[in-house]
Parts: sequence; structure tokens; C-alpha cells
Amino acid sequence: STNPATSTMAMKITTGTSELRDITKMERIGVHSHIRGLGLDERLEPRETSQGLVGQAKARKAAGMILKMVQEGRIAGRAMLFAGPPSTGKTAIAMGMAQSLGPDVPFTIITASEVFSLSMSKTEALTQAFRRSIGVRIKEESEIIEGEVVEIQIDRSLTGHDLAAVSLHRAIIDVNYATKTGKLTIKTTDMETIYDLGTKMIDALTKEKVLAGDVILIDKTSGKITKLGRSFARSRDYDAMGADTKFVATPEGEIQKRKEVVHTVSLHEIDVINSRTQGFLALFAGDTGEIKPELRNQINGKVGEWREEGKAEIVPGVLFIDEVHMLDVECFSFLNRALEQDLAPLVIMASNRGMARIRGTKFRSPHGLPVDLLDRVLIVSTRPYVDEEIRQIISIRCQEEDVQLTPEATDVLTSMALQTTLRYALNLISCAQVCAKKRKAEEVDVEDLKRAYTYFMDEKRSVQWLKEQQGVLMF
Ligand code: ATP
Repeated sequence: STNPATSTMAMKITTGTSELRDITKMERIGVHSHIRGLGLDERLEPRETSQGLVGQAKARKAAGMILKMVQEGRIAGRAMLFAGPPSTGKTAIAMGMAQSLGPDVPFTIITASEVFSLSMSKTEALTQAFRRSIGVRIKEESEIIEGEVVEIQIDRSLTGHDLAAVSLHRAIIDVNYATKTGKLTIKTTDMETIYDLGTKMIDALTKEKVLAGDVILIDKTSGKITKLGRSFARSRDYDAMGADTKFVATPEGEIQKRKEVVHTVSLHEIDVINSRTQGFLALFAGDTGEIKPELRNQINGKVGEWREEGKAEIVPGVLFIDEVHMLDVECFSFLNRALEQDLAPLVIMASNRGMARIRGTKFRSPHGLPVDLLDRVLIVSTRPYVDEEIRQIISIRCQEEDVQLTPEATDVLTSMALQTTLRYALNLISCAQVCAKKRKAEEVDVEDLKRAYTYFMDEKRSVQWLKEQQGVLMF
């Protein structure tokens, strides 16, 4: 779920592996928190640096075009693949796509290796990921005033003087609009309001020139009186309070003020909530187990009915599968089939492998994907960054993390990024800040980076070290 409240809750309630899973997910999002969109202009041309993204113009433009197709509903059955070396922004651009889609469009990130777990089959894990990525926007009308109807008896049009004589008494009656008998119908949330308002209400009645036959609404909290006018009585359906609020007369003659509320849940959430063995608490635990196919069929049917009745809309979201070459041939055939269903999200895959063996087979193919899947995939490549781009990404991350780097430290970190990876360099920022704080410095300087560099290894050094250790052990 994208709801921050839910994710905090998930972390509190759960234990063991699912907690770990949530934390890693949060971490993965944290490193991309500076990204707010794809940074394209109206013509879908990438701005040099915008919405937290730097350079990688071709890939961003391609991503923008794909987004446009998604928004126009023209990408059913397709998928895209970001291919490029490590730390070249594949995930970052996918996050940018997600941000451009709007807050209620689901975006799910999984790493291919997550699919292989002991608690459920590979296809179940993929099915859940697919259904997490399809939103159902449900429209509901909720009644926002449960009114008691209060009748005030008057025998002629109200004028200021006469108001004092109005007797206010409680009577729950059928709504009686537009009375020639001189009945004034007031709808309010509770009796107390009326009594509390006392003379204030009478003043307001005068000020609003409420006449016999008028229908008025009293706001529960402010006591404000809204005159609904006589036409209300005739139309029995009066849109007085803005487009999303309606007054509706029920068959019993009650007036209800209703507001249209919309919420989006994912198909997966609907599955889990309706799964008798799980219940909705399982959503917080993040560990939902397997869900029966019959239940999913029932839910698909129900959602189909809601769509026909205009109560719900489907919001296809995005499923991002990182390190996709780690999937095996069975998963790939599942993907192929799933992409063909009507309710498919946009599937974005990422891989930093060139030719690789397709897991579960002895064949090699580009990015480790079988040919039939490759065939329907739009491939977008990312390229390594140049010096200046790295410098800018570093500075954006420093702003995001509220860290000051001296100009020399920025140079050093930039060259570190070129020699190791961008991700390693970005990780060093917060470590170096701890070192700077320790020596009570405001700014992170070269010495802090050096220290952080000695504490934390990059991949190359770590591999080298292990090799040396093995050497020691072997001889
Ligand atoms: P891998 O193949 O190792 O998974 P990746 O290509 O997915 O790598 P990212 O995780 O997107 O790489 O990038 C590494 C870090 O650099 C992230 O913190 C990301 O937000 C940041 N980053 C990468 N490219 C850009 C960019 N063009 N603009 C801004 N930030 C970027």
C-alpha cells in the first residue's frame, strides 16, 4: 500500500521476515525520495534537470511516451525493459513514471528474487504483485447529515417581529416541503443545535429572510443557515453545496445531504479483505499467504458488476520488476500469459545484464529473457553518467538529506562515483555526515569522506578483500 499510515503500522505489528521485507521496501524508496516526476515539458521533451532527475534524456523521453500510451489506454499486453549498467537510474526513472501517474495509481516494486519464497509458489507471488498493481476506484455516496427533521409551526410569512413568537418544538416528521399551511421545515443534524442556537437562530432566520415554506439547512458546527429555496421543494434534488454534494430525497421523503466519496484500493487488497482465512488484518502483517483462485474469480466478477453499474473504475497501475534476469522460465511464461489478460498493469522490468542464461534452461538470450517475452517488450537503455551529471545528482541528494559538502568534497565524491558506482557514492553522503558531526563540523569535508570510505567498502574492494582472505585460508 502507498498509504504511509498503513506502512508504519505494518512495521509495528509484524515480526520476522515480513517486517524485514517492509523495511527493505522503504529503504528502496528512500534512496529515490528526491524524484518527483520525469521532468518533461508539455511536448514530452526532457528538461536537463527537473523534478529531481538529471540527464538520461533519451530514456526519460521514452518513459514519457510510454506513460502517455498508458494514460490513453494503448499499452495493453505490452511491457518495457530498462536495460543498462548498474546505478544508471533504471529504478529512478521508473519512480519518476510512478510519480507522474498520480497519487491513486498503484505502483508496486518487487525484486525478481523475492518471488522465490517458501511461503508461497512463484506464480502466486507474481499474481499478488500483479493484483497489487491494479487499482479499483470505488465511488460511493455517503450521507453526511443524518438529520432529524424539526418542524416549526408558523402561520404566516416571518417578519422580524413575529419571530419571537415562533415556537420551536421537536417533531420528527416526514419532510414537508413548500407548505401552504405555513410549515417551515428545518433539517439539522441534531436537536441540541437548535436549542443551543436559541435566539441566534431566530436572528439568522430574520437575516436570511426565511419565509414560510422555505427549507433551510442548519450547519451542525457553525450554526450557519443555508436557505435552500422553494425550487428545492419542487425539484426534490438540489445541488446547493458544490458539485460533489447533493441533496437527495429518499423514497420516504427524507432529505439527505450526500457527498460523493472516491477511494482506491488494489485488487489484491480486495482479495485479502475477502479471504476468510486471512481477513483484513493480514494486510497490515504484509504476509497474506496464498489466496484461492475461486475467490479471485468471484472478486473479478463483482468488480465487473460494479464497473457496469458505474460504481467503480479500474485504474491500471505499474508493476516494476527489478533484476528481472533472476526470474526463471516458468515465471516468464506466467508473465506472458498475465500480460494478455484485460486487467494487466504496465509491467516495467529492469536488468543490468547483457547476454545471460535464461534461468531454468540452458539457453542464453539478451537480458536473460526468453524470445517470446522479449518480442513484446519495449526496450529502453540507460547509459553511464558523465562527470557533470554525477555532480548534479550528488548535489540533489545532499539537498534532500540536508547535508552540506565543501566544494573539494564534492569533487572527491564525484570521482569516487566514477570509480565505484553512483549508488555507493550516494550512500557515503550520510556516513560522511556522521563523521563530520563527530568532529563538530557543519560541512562534510574530504577527511570525512576518506574516513567513510575506509569504513565502508565498495563492491570491488570487498571482493578483492575476500579473495585475499581466501588466499590466506588456503595456504
Ligand atoms: P541497478 O542496476 O544496480 O539496480 P539502477 O540503474 O536501478 O541500478 P538506481 O537505483 O536508479 O540505479 O540509481 C542509483 C541511485 O542514483 C539512486 O539513489 C537514484 O535515485 C540515483 N539516480 C540515478 N540516476 C539518476 C538521475 N538521472 N537523476 C537523479 N538521480 C538519479
